Amino acid sequence: MPTSVRPSACPGLLRIVPALDGGICRVKLPGGVLRSAQARTIAEAAQRCASGVLELTNRSNLQIRGVLPGQESALIDALLAANLGPRVAAADDVRNLMLSPAVGLDPQARMDVRPLASQLLDLLQDTPALHVLSPKFALQLDGGEALAMREHPHDLWLAAEDDQHLLLGLAGCPTDAPLARIAAAQALELVRELLLLFLDLATPEQRRMRQLLAQIPASELLQRLQARLDFPLQPAPRHWQPSAALVRPPAGIYPQAQPDLCMVVAGAQLGRLQAEQLLALAELSEHYGDGELRLTPWQGLLLGNVPVNNAQALMTALSELGVINQTAEPLLGLVACTGSAACARGLADSKQHALHLAELLRTNGARPQVHLSACPRSCASARVQPYTLLACSPEHYQLYRRTTEATGFGQLLVPSMTIDEVGAWFADHLRAGQPDA
Ligand code: SF4
Repeated sequence: MPTSVRPSACPGLLRIVPALDGGICRVKLPGGVLRSAQARTIAEAAQRCASGVLELTNRSNLQIRGVLPGQESALIDALLAANLGPRVAAADDVRNLMLSPAVGLDPQARMDVRPLASQLLDLLQDTPALHVLSPKFALQLDGGEALAMREHPHDLWLAAEDDQHLLLGLAGCPTDAPLARIAAAQALELVRELLLLFLDLATPEQRRMRQLLAQIPASELLQRLQARLDFPLQPAPRHWQPSAALVRPPAGIYPQAQPDLCMVVAGAQLGRLQAEQLLALAELSEHYGDGELRLTPWQGLLLGNVPVNNAQALMTALSELGVINQTAEPLLGLVACTGSAACARGLADSKQHALHLAELLRTNGARPQVHLSACPRSCASARVQPYTLLACSPEHYQLYRRTTEATGFGQLLVPSMTIDEVGAWFADHLRAGQPDA
């Protein structure tokens, strides 16, 4: 493996960055898929070379936390041997393509985008010119699945209009108005030329598509793109209806397109698993499913191809393992960043506060979706959640509610409150048992 790892503050598989609890190693998973053997490798390497704490990210990737000093090379070698790395070192950062975790299985999908996804990942890895894209530059390919995240903004998105056509959007989500329509067979060429055009036009400061679009209107960008393509970009439909978005993170048993099989979805408690849990999940995926764990953008897991008759037994096993398999569990609606326990920027211990808030919600019956952020960088959530708690002291948070009018976290509702006060506020303002999206 070549050693040309770029400097960046973002963790990668080959670039382990420090945190208060040790190094962080980020493993990018194609389509969020982890084979059971790979899961075992990660879990055992995390026990041997790190703290054993694993973090599921909101882009369906996985992080190993607490990497011990002097163990970095051993960890990297173990991961590379399990085929978890890029083909060349310089390609590690650019493997950013988000799919639905239910791709190929979801009965509502309009198109099976897996073949195209594979081509796009090859394009990103095998085109050296693209390796200079920002580690945060990300693509989404939306096949129209019901189990999909359509609220995380991406630099470039493609969404299936039907089984033959894709719609293109930039710097946003598949719920936005698309800019153009193409035949699915043209998508690879379109993405290649669009990314190269972006790199031709962007200044060194313009690392993301939205920054370029602040200077060059999308219509002009499309004209320039058209000049590089040997097929016409078709006008986007006026009334685009993306597949319905999920109101809350999924958990439980979901129907599958293939007869007599189903998908079982679970959430990891505040996005974290212990290595022992991952080892057990690998076992469950082989026993009940197809030997794959699919990581979700809700920081959870999906096991597919589970015989319907076995689904309830799998649910029981997941419950015994301590992962969340019920949508009624308040922790499923809570997202918390690393917080002051392991991040030098953190003002408050947001993970512990989230656990405390979940206890309060279990008692009072409110089921809000809340993001606890220990500083304004907002690492833990790629989208604005219905409610945000932003730490303003070690024991106090500002409470925001998402609105269409206000930017950032939304409207400031309460300037300072403790977690006990937050719990009481939700009990007062949300009807018990009424999920708030
Ligand atoms: S949001 Fe701030 S405190 Fe939380 S993990 Fe990110 S940088 Fe650290």
